[in-house]
Amino acid sequence: MCAVVNQEIKLIPRASVEPQNFWSLTLPELERVMDTWRQPTYRAKQVFQWAYKELADDFAQMSNLPRELRERLAEAYSLVNLRAERELVSNDRQTYKALLALPDGQTIETVLMLYEARATVCVSSQVGCAIGCPFCATGQMGLQRNLNAGEIVEQVIHFSRFLRCWHEGQAGELGSKISVPAEIQSVTNLVFMGMGEPLANYNNLWRAIRNLNAAHGLGMGARRMTVSTSGLVPRIEQFAREPEEVNLAISLHAANDELRNLMVPINKKWPVARLMEAARGYIAATNRRLSYEWALIQGVNDAPERAEELAAAIKSQLCHVNV
Ligand code: SF4
Repeated sequence: MCAVVNQEIKLIPRASVEPQNFWSLTLPELERVMDTWRQPTYRAKQVFQWAYKELADDFAQMSNLPRELRERLAEAYSLVNLRAERELVSNDRQTYKALLALPDGQTIETVLMLYEARATVCVSSQVGCAIGCPFCATGQMGLQRNLNAGEIVEQVIHFSRFLRCWHEGQAGELGSKISVPAEIQSVTNLVFMGMGEPLANYNNLWRAIRNLNAAHGLGMGARRMTVSTSGLVPRIEQFAREPEEVNLAISLHAANDELRNLMVPINKKWPVARLMEAARGYIAATNRRLSYEWALIQGVNDAPERAEELAAAIKSQLCHVNV
């Protein structure tokens, strides 16, 4: 009973409280809200339809909902919580990077990459990062905070809206700098490789993935999503047990402990041999191909011996290596 009461307090903010991020909500949670508001449960599906399929940025646009309900939704939830503070487009017109401001003033980076028929969004999962890889600017910030699930989902919504506006000729000056192939109508792939260690924000990550994957959500196939980790072994083992077929990538960068301790400091806690054990367990449990990331840094990890160490570490694994 107490749990239910607590849940309701969390799900139904009072009007005097700041609106919550809509994108954190699951459909069953919104259905419970509708129930509490004495609305038919199907209203929740209608709201999700407007939000995820029509990409509405205002509850007022949800024309098949009663006006009072739209107003109540707008008091309780917000569909726009991220604000583009700075936007950059690459010279080849295929990459669009946005610095997105969060409601508390912190900022994250999210990137849209257009390549052939793919529109891939590189999603951030934390503000800053606790792992502290010396070659990474985010790592130097330390961990500021986890993103909530809504802040993760909304990065994808931001670019989904942009692509829709672009095709409608309403993407403004920014749109004129980008070339979107006709076959790309929406975001096609996600990589959780932006700021932060996604598996250190595990529950929010999966809540977001499930909203992005659900048919009533964005409907993006799990196999079109890749989560990248620096090597949090217990979380890799947990990841392998999740029912959704989301891909996993490991940022390896070095396959000997001495070097990897320096490049990816989490290696001191879970050294290469333990990481490879978890990787083999993941492949055995899922029968999915694992990706290894190897950022080549001149004079650090680009010698032939490093490649031989890599080959020995991943021998017989169902995997590929992105250099
Ligand atoms: S885990 Fe990723 S985000 Fe974190 S410091 Fe290392 S490279 Fe940067």
